[in-house]
Amino acid sequence: MTFTLFADSRLSLARDALAGLSVGDALGSQFFVPGRHPGELAAGHLPPPPWQWTDDTEMACSVVAELAEIGRIDPDRLARVFAERCEPYRGYGPGAVTVLRLIRTGTPWPVAAAAAFDGQGSWGNGAAMRVGPLGAYFADSTSRAAAQARVSAEVTHAHPEGIAGAVAVAVAAALAARARLDGDRPTPARLLAAVAAALDPTTRVHHGVRRAVPLLGRPVAEAAAVLGNGARVTAPDTVPFTCWVAATFLDDYPAAIRSCVEAGGDVDTTAAIVGAVVAGYTGVGTPGGVPTEWVAHREALPAWVA
Ligand SMILES: [Mg+2]
Repeated sequence: MTFTLFADSRLSLARDALAGLSVGDALGSQFFVPGRHPGELAAGHLPPPPWQWTDDTEMACSVVAELAEIGRIDPDRLARVFAERCEPYRGYGPGAVTVLRLIRTGTPWPVAAAAAFDGQGSWGNGAAMRVGPLGAYFADSTSRAAAQARVSAEVTHAHPEGIAGAVAVAVAAALAARARLDGDRPTPARLLAAVAAALDPTTRVHHGVRRAVPLLGRPVAEAAAVLGNGARVTAPDTVPFTCWVAATFLDDYPAAIRSCVEAGGDVDTTAAIVGAVVAGYTGVGTPGGVPTEWVAHREALPAWVA
């Protein structure tokens, strides 16, 4: 099906994905608080508010603000706003803080991004964690979503794995948002196959997304044991598992987030990625969507994106 997607519809899909991302991030990060156990969420007990969001949300807000302002990603602008808005206490990794400090003090982003990790560029999950709303924004074109995801990734993540992670999440989010518009939910296997087809086949991210297919229908713990749970904070260790969760629980946001919490690892980021993809399909305050109570428990988003 082909259709025209107007700017306000794109932005509304991106904002739903951002709601899912930020609530997942903020709730997921609660499970790094000492004494808090994943079983509490599984039993239906929510952590006490406010749930503070982290770097995942801060950067995703910049992505959405850029789309709202100019309708696409301009890498020079994006690098600048990432650097200007970075509050290091939000849980940025040391590599990200270094790259963003270099950019803020005048180093061109291609130089700063390439300098990370002994000149190889970052293959962390940071480009994937912020890109879901961009995918939803380009719901009418997975190729545009993939191309814009690459542009958004490269300003901080020069390594092919870091870029592939962002492309995978953006394509998953585009397909999820498109499925919502079409009223045609893809089977989990079809969604994973479409994501894999969009990726550089030489990457470990691609390999991981393909490995996720035979794990469909298996328990969350088994999927995480094979695919990773983000504990290494790399894209290959994070993105295939999040694609598996999002494909499996595409119509059930709370179940998707509970699965991320159950799996452990880099929970704020896995829940942010999954939350963005799933919320692009379910919306907010709908059956299976992001619960309005959860949104109310999340710290307010920055005024510049609201
Ligand atoms: Mg974080």
